[in-house]
Amino acid sequence: VLLGIGDDAALLRPAPGTELVATVDTLVEGRHFLAGADPRSLGHRALAVSLSDLAAMGAAPCWALLALTLPEADATWLAAFARGFGELAQRHGVALVGGNTARGPLNIAVQLLGSVPQGAALRRSGARAGDAVYVTGTPGDAAAGREPGQRSAALRERCEFPVPRVTAGQALRGIASACIDVSDGLAADLGKLATASGLEARLQPLLLPLSEDLLAFAGPQRAVELALSGGEDYELCFTVPPARQAGLAAALPPELCRITRIGTVETASGPLDAAAEGFDHFRS
Ligand SMILES: [Mg+2]
Repeated sequence: VLLGIGDDAALLRPAPGTELVATVDTLVEGRHFLAGADPRSLGHRALAVSLSDLAAMGAAPCWALLALTLPEADATWLAAFARGFGELAQRHGVALVGGNTARGPLNIAVQLLGSVPQGAALRRSGARAGDAVYVTGTPGDAAAGREPGQRSAALRERCEFPVPRVTAGQALRGIASACIDVSDGLAADLGKLATASGLEARLQPLLLPLSEDLLAFAGPQRAVELALSGGEDYELCFTVPPARQAGLAAALPPELCRITRIGTVETASGPLDAAAEGFDHFRS
C-alpha cells in the first residue's frame, strides 16, 4: 500500500512477477441475510465470500474496499460489523484501503484485490477428462445452519462465520487443474467447473463428506441434498489430474484441511447443460 485511506483513491503496487486478481460481492438485506442479522457475522461474511473467490483462483488476498449503505448511523451496529470484518481481514493480512458510506436500505459491497504469481492462477476451465474431483471440508453444514428449528451451535457457526479456504487455494497451485468455490451449492458449482472445462461431472453421492452435526440434524438423505444444493459453504471444489494425485496429500495435509475425492470429470455424453440445480439469483 503506497497510499491508503485518506486521499481520493488508494495507491497500490502489486509485487513484481505477480498478477492482480479482483473480485466484488454484495450482500443485500432480505436477499442474502434477514433484517436484524448479527452485524459481526455480516462483517465476517461480507469479506469471507470475497476471500473464498480469491482462494478459488489460488490467489493471496491483499487489499479490500468496502461500500456500506446503511439506513441509519448506529454506532453499536457499526462497531460489531467492523469487528467481524476486521478480525477476518487481520487473519489474512488484508488491508482496508478504501471505503464509502451512504444512507439507504442495508447493503454491503466488498471489493477484494489479491495477487498470484504470473501464470499460476487456478481457473474453472483447466480440467481434463479423467481428472478426479475433490471438495474441502464438509459441505451442507452452512445450509443446515440456516434452517429453522436447528439448534446446533456448530452448524450455525458454519453459516454465520464461514471459513474461506485461503491457504488451501494457494496450496493447490500447480496441483489442481481447475477450481471453483462452493457458493451456490456443490452440484451447481461443480457443474459450472465441468461446463467451463467442456466436460461432464460424475459425482458419487455416497462419497460426500457429511459432518456428524449435519447427519444428526438432517438424517442421511436430507444431508446429501443439503450437501449438494445447500450453498454458501465457501469450500473449494477442484480437479486433480491422475499424475498429480500423489502430490496432493503433501500440498494439502489433513491438518491444513480435510479433502475428499467425490467423483471425476469425463467427456460430455450430450449437449452441455449449465442449468444444474442450485441457487439461481433470478429464479423467483
Ligand atoms: Mg465464486
